Amino acid sequence: MNQTRRLFINALGSGAVALPWLSLLGPMRAMAADDPKLSPDDPAAISLNYRHQSADSARRCAGCQFYTGAAGDAWGPCVIFPGKRVNADGVCSSWYARAS
Ligand code: SF4
Repeated sequence: MNQTRRLFINALGSGAVALPWLSLLGPMRAMAADDPKLSPDDPAAISLNYRHQSADSARRCAGCQFYTGAAGDAWGPCVIFPGKRVNADGVCSSWYARAS
């Protein structure tokens, strides 16, 4: 194993290589607040029957396992629709009760 490869592998083990990438997580989270709202007309939204307003108050995005928005926010990210925000009162056919 050459010296460069050994140094890189050692750096991986120490986390020195991972730290610059971790610093990008802050801006990525900030960008989530600026992500566009998911349109019900989006092909992915249509395929999962997404709606901005759920007819069942017990089945809302805010109570879904895939919703990653902050409590109380009207809109937030959803793992199923990356790069878009969904309405906290919305729902789609992938709804799954959030573990409490
Ligand atoms: S998976 Fe569907 S119900 Fe769950 S948060 Fe995302 S859009 Fe809402």
